Amino acid sequence: MTLKTYRAKRNFTRTSEPSGTHRQKEHKPVYVVQKHDASHLHYDFRLEMNGVLLSWAVPKGPSKNPAIKRLAVHVEDHPLEYAKFEGTIPEGEYGAGTVKIWDKGSWECTDENPEKAYKAGNLTFVLHGKKLTGLWKLIQLKNTDPKNWILFKLKEKKE
Ligand code: MN
Repeated sequence: MTLKTYRAKRNFTRTSEPSGTHRQKEHKPVYVVQKHDASHLHYDFRLEMNGVLLSWAVPKGPSKNPAIKRLAVHVEDHPLEYAKFEGTIPEGEYGAGTVKIWDKGSWECTDENPEKAYKAGNLTFVLHGKKLTGLWKLIQLKNTDPKNWILFKLKEKKE
């Protein structure tokens, strides 16, 4: 597919039609985990939804063992571009320390309406990463700080 013909027909200094250069590339929703060596080492677990990265700080990091549930503290949404970020946040700045991509890929919510599932504090999803794959869950804990969720892998039948 190309926009060559569309563009050749138009003078974009005169028409307010879009040139298509700022079009967001279609892509599968991003999944990324960043290892963040800040004042306390933690893993930032991020899932793209509605143009942002929903983010949880997982102090001990995700566990592939379905018997182990890890605390995941919900933090502020991050821009999509953040999924590519690696580097050092300078001393004295928020989150000072090094950030490295630990795992990356895409994710799929198993619920028909991911936003609704997220708002209900009960996300079930498939990860397509290099380190993490398969079915996972993020559940918001009740009767505690609403920022507290748990992250764990679901048992799967081997084919
Ligand atoms: Mn962090």
